[in-house]
Amino acid sequence: MAQPRILILGAPGAGKGTQSAKITDHFDVDHVTTGDALRANKDMDISDMDTEYDTPREYMDRGELVPDEVVNAIVEEALTQADGFVLDGYPRNLEQAEELEGMTDLDVVLSLDVSEEELVHRLTGRRMDPETGDIYHLEYNPPEDPEVEERLVQRDDDTEETVKERLRVYHENTEPVIEYYDETGALERVDGERAPEEVWEDVKETIESAT
Ligand code: AMP
Repeated sequence: MAQPRILILGAPGAGKGTQSAKITDHFDVDHVTTGDALRANKDMDISDMDTEYDTPREYMDRGELVPDEVVNAIVEEALTQADGFVLDGYPRNLEQAEELEGMTDLDVVLSLDVSEEELVHRLTGRRMDPETGDIYHLEYNPPEDPEVEERLVQRDDDTEETVKERLRVYHENTEPVIEYYDETGALERVDGERAPEEVWEDVKETIESAT
């Protein structure tokens, strides 16, 4: 059978990145993530696209969505090259969902459900080791090595102010995407407010029974 085509939905901080990494390892698919792709190209010149700002950075640091034109092109390119994928961070509005329909079929659509209070706590406490790219949390998962602890940095958009804006943008733009997939009957909801390993057991089972 061909490799599965998986869409993972959920708010910022719901654990999409963590679960996608496990999916990638276990099901041998590509991880297609617009957030990482944009972070790697934050200063790309998009001024020829008739956008409000000239680079993705200006949208991202404000917690706003990067224009569809930029993001659609990234996803289309990545999906063309992938034999099976987990798509994470896209679609973030109904226009992108429509665009995605024209690009590929999906085998599984997952939603990781986490309460608002927990999302804020997870995002504002999240830190990254700039040397390894490993992700920690000040309270849930602090590094054991004090040297690592000292060099941890916060993602530019994980500050309290930007987190609030990202969650507002999520409710306004992305929740309708989840409702859309729910109405088509394709949506599989997973309780994301548990330890990553427990969530993974459900995620794995859901993918296995849908493919
Ligand atoms: P993430 O790592 O998925 O939380 O994405 C970080 C930021 O990248 C978001 O706050 C947006 O500014 C931008 N971004 C990521 N994916 C998309 C998308 N599908 N559409 C528009 N902007 C996006």
